[in-house]
Amino acid sequence: MSIRRRIYLSLLASAFITLLLSFLIIYYISSELLESRVRETYSLIYNNYRQILDREEKNLHLLPREGTLHGIYHQKKLTVDVCKERPHYRVLSTGPYYGINKLYPEGCYFVGVSLEELLKFTTNLMGVDWVVYYERAHIGELMETSVDEFMRGKIVIDSLVVDQFSNQRVLKMPLRVSGYALHGSLLSKYLLMELPFTNWEGLHVGKVVLVKDVSDIYREVYTIFLALALYSLLMVSFLSFVLLRISSRLASRIIFLKDVTAGIEKKEFSVVNLLEKEEGDWKDEVQELKNSIRNMAVSLRSAFMELEKKQKELEELAYHDPLTGLPNRRFFFDHASLLLENARRYGTPMSLLIMDIDSFKKINDTYGHEAGDMVLRNFANLLKKGIRHSDLPARLGGEEFALLMPNTDLHQAKTVAERIRRSLKDSPLVYEGQEIRATLSGGLVAFSGSVKGVDELIRMADEALYTAKNSGRDRIEVYVAKK
Ligand code: GH3
Ligand code: MG
Ligand code: MG
Repeated sequence: MSIRRRIYLSLLASAFITLLLSFLIIYYISSELLESRVRETYSLIYNNYRQILDREEKNLHLLPREGTLHGIYHQKKLTVDVCKERPHYRVLSTGPYYGINKLYPEGCYFVGVSLEELLKFTTNLMGVDWVVYYERAHIGELMETSVDEFMRGKIVIDSLVVDQFSNQRVLKMPLRVSGYALHGSLLSKYLLMELPFTNWEGLHVGKVVLVKDVSDIYREVYTIFLALALYSLLMVSFLSFVLLRISSRLASRIIFLKDVTAGIEKKEFSVVNLLEKEEGDWKDEVQELKNSIRNMAVSLRSAFMELEKKQKELEELAYHDPLTGLPNRRFFFDHASLLLENARRYGTPMSLLIMDIDSFKKINDTYGHEAGDMVLRNFANLLKKGIRHSDLPARLGGEEFALLMPNTDLHQAKTVAERIRRSLKDSPLVYEGQEIRATLSGGLVAFSGSVKGVDELIRMADEALYTAKNSGRDRIEVYVAKK
C-alpha cells in the first residue's frame, strides 16, 4: 500500500472513531440532562399540587359551621362511629371531592371541596392539563348513589371511566401510567404524572393524571445536542484537514526522495540538480535524509564519471598501439570487416595498403632499439597526416602497417600509397647527430565483391608486398591475381 493511501485511510479511521466517541458522549450527556430536567419539572408540579391540597385542607378546618355549604364546597352528615379528621376523597355523582370528616355537636360531617375546582386552579397556575378517572371494576364499591346514575354522561376508555378532564386532547394519551411517563413524538413531548387518591378508609378510589407539555425542554436539549455534535464535527474536520495537509506534504517529500533515488539507481545523475533546487525551510529528519542522499549522489556521480574516464582510457589502450597511437590490429579487424560489408552492400570501391619498413632490423642494429621506435613513431605521424578522416590506419605489428581506404579505387589508392612512401623517404630523422633514412615497401589491393573477408584481402595485399620486397624494396606493388 502506498504511503499516501495509508495516511488517508488512517486519518479517515481516526476521524470516524473520534466522531463516533464524541457523539456517544454528547448523547449520554444530553440524555442525562433531559432526564434531570424532566424530573425537576415533575417535582415542581408535584410539590405545587401538594401545596394546593395542604392549603385547602387548612381552609376546610377553618370553614365556618353552617347548615349547608354552596358552590364548590360540599357538606354531608355521616353515620360513622369514628370521625377522624384525616384528609381524603369522596366520590359523589357530581364528581370527586377532597375534604375531611369534621365532628360537630350534631354528629360527624364530611366537608370537602370539588376536586375539579382544585384541578382547574392547578391548570391555571402551572399550565398543566389533567384527567380524573376510576377503574370500572371498582365503580360499584365506591358509589353512594346508583351506578347507572353515576355513569350517565361519562366517557369509558377501555376499562377506565373518565370523570372529568381539562382538555379533550388528554384523552388520547395513554392514561394508565404508574409514577410518571413520557408520551409524544420527537419534538412534542408530554409528561404524564399519576396521582392516585383514596377514601377515608384508605380504599383506592381513582386517579388524577396531570399532563405537562415538556416539548420546550426536549427542544432545548436537542439544540444543545446538535450544537455540540456540530462543534465536534467541525473540530474533527479541521484537525483532520490540518493533519492531512502536514502528512500529505511529508508523503510528497518522501515520494520525491524515492523518485530521486530511483533516478540515481538508473545512473540519471541529473536528478541531483532537482535536489539542489528543491531547498525547503524544513529542518527535520527528511531534510537531513535529502541532504545525505544529495551528498551520496554527488560522490557517486564523480566516482562514476571517474570510472567512465578510466574505462575510456582502458578501451583506448585495448584498441590502440601505445608506441604510435595508431589503432592496433584488434581495432583494425573489428572495423575493417564493417567497412568491407558496407562496400559490398553499396557497391562502393575500397582499397587496402599493407606497408612494411624496409630493413628495419638493420636500423635497430645500427642505431639501437630506441632509434627504431623513433622511426616507427615518425612514420605513424606521417601516415596520420597523409590520409583522409574516413581512412582506417593501423599498426598490425612490428614495423608492419595497414591502411584501409573506403570509397577509394585502385587508381586513387596508388596515388595515396606513393605519397606515403615518398613522405617517409623524404623525412630523414636525426638521432644523436646521425641521420636515419627509412623506406617502406607496400602491397596494394582493391576490394571486389568476390573477396570473402578481411583476412583474404590482407592475404592479397601481403602477396603484393612480398612482390615489392622481392623486387628491390622502396616501392608499391599492386596485387595481381594468379592464373
Ligand atoms: P625487410 O626489409 O625484409 O622487411 O627486413 P626487416 O629487417 O625490416 O625485417 P625483419 O622481419 O627481419 O625485422 C623486423 C625487425 O623489426 C625485427 C624486430 O626486432 C624489429 N621490431 C619489431 N617491433 C619493433 C619495435 O616496436 N621497435 C623496434 N625498435 N624494433 C622492432
Ligand atoms: Mg616485417
Ligand atoms: Mg621490414
